[in-house]
Amino acid sequence: MPLQAEILIIGGGLAGLTAALHLNKLGFEVALIEKSVYPHHKVCGEYISNEVLPYLNWLGIDLRNLLPTQINKLQFTSASGKQVNTSLPLGGFGISRHSIDNYLYKLAINNGVNVIHQKVDQVTFNENHFLVETTSGTSFEARYVLGAYGKRSAVDIKLERKFINQKSPYLAIKAHYRSNFPNNLVSLNSFPGGYCGVSKVENDVLNVCYLASYESFKKHKDIEAYQENVLYQNKNLKEILQEAEMIFDAPLTISQISFQQKEPVHHHILMLGDTAGLIHPLCGNGMAMAIHSAKIAAELLAKHRLNTSADRFELEKNYTLAWKRLFSKRLQAGKVLASFLKNKIVEDVAINIAAKFPAVLQKMIKYTHGKPITILDL
Ligand SMILES: Cc1cc2nc3c(=O)[nH]c(=O)nc-3n(C[C@H](O)[C@H](O)[C@H](O)COP(=O)(O)OP(=O)(O)OC[C@H]3O[C@@H](n4cnc5c(N)ncnc54)[C@H](O)[C@@H]3O)c2cc1C
Repeated sequence: MPLQAEILIIGGGLAGLTAALHLNKLGFEVALIEKSVYPHHKVCGEYISNEVLPYLNWLGIDLRNLLPTQINKLQFTSASGKQVNTSLPLGGFGISRHSIDNYLYKLAINNGVNVIHQKVDQVTFNENHFLVETTSGTSFEARYVLGAYGKRSAVDIKLERKFINQKSPYLAIKAHYRSNFPNNLVSLNSFPGGYCGVSKVENDVLNVCYLASYESFKKHKDIEAYQENVLYQNKNLKEILQEAEMIFDAPLTISQISFQQKEPVHHHILMLGDTAGLIHPLCGNGMAMAIHSAKIAAELLAKHRLNTSADRFELEKNYTLAWKRLFSKRLQAGKVLASFLKNKIVEDVAINIAAKFPAVLQKMIKYTHGKPITILDL
């Protein structure tokens, strides 16, 4: 006999946990399935845009005790030695995923969310109900399912999502370090085949996280050789890395990162965060988008519950429209920004323009970010 849930969330990263907290606050009976135990590190730049703060406050999420750094300056450097510095209009904060995901998980548990530590294997939809099966053999029946399982999962193969068969030419590497680095700065440093984000998180820890093309990475023996031969071509990055002392035993890596278009709704599942679409990490906005997508799904589910005559298709249509209205332009701007890095000459011209005309850079930052997420439209 399958276990019953009104709403089942697959994946307990930022999108899944935020959705669980929001839906729980609205009185829904929520279950969340997460494959990993908390706390755990994640490959991520760990810079979160301040646009999420009003919404987090409304959810009763107060991150101050986690001692995040306050970040209001951005530096961009290229391998050819060009550099541009600017302020971040809205700013953000630095916090490790180890810390924030664990905090949200504990809050969800305290608030009564049912968190199950298993790995979802497949989801089927029949007669207006979902059947969700895990690799441990447990089955759940749910009226609604939210997919918040990140960039890529075996579930996507079973769901026959288009992007899963397309090329994913990037990998990403991250580690924490001790270093003298300003608390209020996020430094983005490009190198042939990728870029590296550097910023401080809580407890005076420096997070260094980079995205690299598999094509450039595979020519080198290991991570150390890759860093020395390729990342060090950017002098600023070389100085940062040589001065820093790694805290992790070894860097974390993930592969198969794809920026292919996805669908916000697939197989009647409302997709949240990276499961719906991945913005280029250069924009530093993926976590804010994950949190924001949880908000729009929770609000629409609440409206849907009130309108007993509305059917599921209306909910799906409204979620797709809201998702596209909020995030499509950002994803597009991220693609344009990332395309500049692919060509050295274009990159240098773009940096020169940005250095001469700060308003252009400010506009680009604005296009890749959202406005503060208010709760007025709840
Ligand atoms: C190199 C890099 C740097 C980045 N830097 C930044 C940055 O500085 N700022 C920013 O805002 N964004 C950044 N991002 C993007 C950001 O990390 C993501 O957008 C964000 O993590 C999305 O959150 P999520 O909840 O959608 O997914 P995730 O955080 O990936 O959570 C998904 C969860 O689902 C679980 N899961 C997966 N499969 C299953 C399954 N079958 N069953 C059960 N559970 C499952 C996973 O264990 C995981 O906990 C970066 C991304 C990359 C790749």
